[in-house]
Amino acid sequence: MKNLLDLTGKVALVTGASSGLGVQFAKALAEQGADIAICARRLEKLEAVKKDIEALGVKCFAYKCDVLKVDEIRAMVKAVEEHYGKIDILVNNAGVGDATPAADLPDETWRNVLGTNLDAVFYVAREVGKVMLKNGYGKIINVGSLHSEVVMSNTTWPVPAYAAAKGGVKMLTKALAVEWAKSGITVNAIGPAYFGSEMTNDILSTGGFDPVAAAYCPMGRAGREGELNGAVLYFASDASSYTTGQILYIDGGWTAI
Ligand code: NDP
Repeated sequence: MKNLLDLTGKVALVTGASSGLGVQFAKALAEQGADIAICARRLEKLEAVKKDIEALGVKCFAYKCDVLKVDEIRAMVKAVEEHYGKIDILVNNAGVGDATPAADLPDETWRNVLGTNLDAVFYVAREVGKVMLKNGYGKIINVGSLHSEVVMSNTTWPVPAYAAAKGGVKMLTKALAVEWAKSGITVNAIGPAYFGSEMTNDILSTGGFDPVAAAYCPMGRAGREGELNGAVLYFASDASSYTTGQILYIDGGWTAI
């Protein structure tokens, strides 16, 4: 039987792949045979990731890009297209966390969180979308969050800006999916609960997360490395050829209750 998740001959761009989940996604796509492009602001970290990906036997192109700057996004997408001749898969992953209570939330923090987690998701999808529309093929995976759907009471980390942005990612995913449904492009999103990364290590390592997981998460634990890969590979491959506009929560049952 054909391997439904095979990505041989495909080109995948992963934003925010200098640390955390983006690195995992880029490696998972590479393990299925895709050539990879990665971007973020910290070029030295990207260069290390690039070496690891090349060791998996595929090509990797690393590009320094601040997704808060639309001109840098345009230049990055142009460079990736010129380098590989196409972009088949986009994992729109770059993001920042924030846990400032609403009444104390400075304008610039709001703008940074919305700018990185929502505006940039649109700008990257728009620029990559133009390439995909030209080629009549594309798989876009936006990285939403548990907080695209719910927030929790009784935590020490309120998420008004983060939840507003990630909620926006959910509806942007649906809107782009519908608009491009007849153009050979699928647009889906993943909604992870809490996974270890630079963004979450403080919350997860101090024990503050444990009572929250016990109260809200049927599986009672954070996500583990690799537990998002199946969903990303499904949405990135032709296994999901008839699936678009969906957000898949990978949350140990969190949003089921
Ligand atoms: P990390 O902080 O480890 O990674 C964030 C990545 O985004 C880094 O590579 C960072 O690179 C990049 N990034 C941030 N700002 C910018 C910018 N302005 N321009 C370009 N790149 C940028 O966190 P995670 O791996 O956890 O987060 C990845 C995604 O997953 C985010 O969208 C996050 O919201 C989402 N998510 C994470 C969850 C978790 O529990 N970890 C749960 C749900 C969703 P650099 O600093 O080098 O620019």
